[in-house]
Amino acid sequence: MDFNTICVRGATDAHSSTGAVSVPIYQSSTFAHLAVGQSTGYDYSRLQNPTRAALENLVTSLEQGTDTLAFSSGMAAITTMMDLFEAGDHIIASADLYGGSIRLFNTICKKNGLVFDYVDTSHHDTIESHIQKNTKAIFVETPTNPMMHVTDIAAVSLIAKKHNLLLIVDNTFLSPYFLKPIALGADIVMHSGTKFLCGHNDTLAGFLTVANDALSEKLRFMFKTTGACLSPFDSWLLIRGIKTLALRMERQQENAIKLADWLCNQEKIKAVYFVGLNSHPQYDVSIKQSSGFGSMISFQTDSEETALSILENVKLIL
Ligand code: PLP
Repeated sequence: MDFNTICVRGATDAHSSTGAVSVPIYQSSTFAHLAVGQSTGYDYSRLQNPTRAALENLVTSLEQGTDTLAFSSGMAAITTMMDLFEAGDHIIASADLYGGSIRLFNTICKKNGLVFDYVDTSHHDTIESHIQKNTKAIFVETPTNPMMHVTDIAAVSLIAKKHNLLLIVDNTFLSPYFLKPIALGADIVMHSGTKFLCGHNDTLAGFLTVANDALSEKLRFMFKTTGACLSPFDSWLLIRGIKTLALRMERQQENAIKLADWLCNQEKIKAVYFVGLNSHPQYDVSIKQSSGFGSMISFQTDSEETALSILENVKLIL
């Protein structure tokens, strides 16, 4: 099946004999065993749930990984993933990063003994000089929130492999529709499913897709132990949202290109940060590694007054 077909038809209920076309919402916390020691494969929804499993298999296919875990939010996904590391481990992270990730790293992870170096990973040639004996992973967001820096994933993956480090990519902004980090050498892809994958502003969700069974086994142990799993109903909302992923990503990108071009011609706008502008410093990297630019734009105004005036006057942008 091609990508767009997987979005629409990739989620199936492996257990139903009803022929239900929409994956049913298995709103059950617990699953009875057929007999002593005979599990149906489902015991308790913190561990596995059939609706969530359908969604997880769907995202695994879209991201071309080996397994996916669906969490109650993007931050729940990152927090669980950080349990892969131990006190004293060092992690290199993109210098421009979603604020919630920085807050997690600098408070809870720091308290747990992890050490971070924030490096501009869009200049990947500088990464190696930050690697220490205790470095365990490189955490990359691309494009970054909010400055839209793009990192060459294949190039960073070579560095990660050379030094035996995990490469983790936050793929929230491009979604697997435009970028498939595992195919470029990433070990773990993370999503705030709350954004493009859900697509309707009606639920929080997070994903970790992995590239091998060893990572899957470790993360599934943490998942069942700490319990930040996505509910059956929210899983169903995500399955429904993903059906239109391809259409939404294309239309949003089309709109973003028009908006970015328009912003570039406004006197009071001093800088526009959009990956799709050919003046973007990593435009060539984007062309090489992704099939599109996405639709996230940030920009700089000539003054705080202009910024406030825009915020007070926009009607469709909330
Ligand atoms: N990563 C990025 C790039 C984000 O933009 C966000 C949220 O805005 C997150 C992670 C966190 O995800 P969530 O809000 O679903 O917890």
